[in-house]
Amino acid sequence: MKLHEYQAKEIFRKSGIPTPNGELVTEVDQTTKAIQNVKGPPWVVKAQVHAGGRGKGGGVQLAHSPDQVVSSVQSMLGKPLVTKQTGPGGVIMHQVLIEEGIDIDREFYLSMIIDRAVAMPAMIFSQAGGMEIEEVASRSPELILKEHADPATGWMPYQGRKLVYKLDSPLSPEASRALMAIMANVVKLFMSHDCSLLEINPLVTTMDGKVVALDAKLNIDDNSLYRHKELHALDDPREKEPLEVEAEKYDINYIRLDGNIGAMVNGAGLAMATMDVIKLAGAEPANFLDVGGGASQEMVTKGIEIILKDPRVKAILINIFGGILRCDVLARGLLEAAKHTEIRAPLIVRLEGTNVEEGREILRNSGLKFLVAKDLAEAAELVAKQVS
Ligand code: ADP
Ligand code: MG
Repeated sequence: MKLHEYQAKEIFRKSGIPTPNGELVTEVDQTTKAIQNVKGPPWVVKAQVHAGGRGKGGGVQLAHSPDQVVSSVQSMLGKPLVTKQTGPGGVIMHQVLIEEGIDIDREFYLSMIIDRAVAMPAMIFSQAGGMEIEEVASRSPELILKEHADPATGWMPYQGRKLVYKLDSPLSPEASRALMAIMANVVKLFMSHDCSLLEINPLVTTMDGKVVALDAKLNIDDNSLYRHKELHALDDPREKEPLEVEAEKYDINYIRLDGNIGAMVNGAGLAMATMDVIKLAGAEPANFLDVGGGASQEMVTKGIEIILKDPRVKAILINIFGGILRCDVLARGLLEAAKHTEIRAPLIVRLEGTNVEEGREILRNSGLKFLVAKDLAEAAELVAKQVS
């Protein structure tokens, strides 16, 4: 789950990571009042969307007078913002953050991710802040430093010193201490909130020697949300694929992809293998859809309906290995879907496992048009043929 910058900054402030003060605005007429609560000029008006690279796309605007703030807000609210990360259509700016303008001295990069290779969170720190970190990584990888936070021992003060003392030009003792305190607080926040990503780009020192997080990106691991009820409320479905939001309601794992072959599978591993064989057969999957090992008939029905709602889908591959989800339940789920939704694309079915004969029998007698494949490779070839 991704958070907006303003939400992440609220959590930052509570966690001892300083940020600029700001007010969120969702309507133009809230602007004048909001400005009164935020120090300025200058002010910075920032689009609140789940995409980075806003600065270059016009989603971060500097304003030197209240009138300029109002016209910036006006030019943003309700309009699409196109950045490198949004795709050509852009995303609608429903809310903007009005922030105090900070007098920047130096810009740094600080983030925390899960380093799967060593199964530990890793802090990434760089003195080349404010630019795209991917670019820094490819041009001057020596500028990117990494320290792991061992869950057994936690973050050690020496690790902060190690990062800060490697700066080409040293910070003042106060700023160094503030930066090291922020690092320790970043680790605490990351662990206690079950984050999958925390990124501050840029983290700046100000002309008066403070260290402030100017930007904030925070992603929470969806699988931990059951123990973070207060975070769940921060979810903004407007920023997500509508079909993904619908799938979530039924506990279906669904991710939209770029191709035109719909796929419904039980089990994430089987789903990935299925996408691989679809590609191998020369076609492209339109989605990842895993109804889960123990899916109910209703989930199967909803799964098919969600796939069919995607107008790009030209053929559907159903690959079910009946274990806890029995093949007859799958077949009944399909029939149920066909009652409410027109099955407008060819169906290719590959069934194996518990109650497979009963499942096939139900499908044969259903009057539904579909092709049966004897194995996965044949299923993929059949489905690819439908779109070639
Ligand atoms: P994005 O990463 O989406 O482009 P940022 O929040 O990093 O958005 O903003 C882009 C740039 O705008 C920053 O690198 C910084 O130079 C400037 N900026 C952002 N917020 C402020 C602020 N409150 N005061 C001064 N400058 C800011
Ligand atoms: Mg940024």
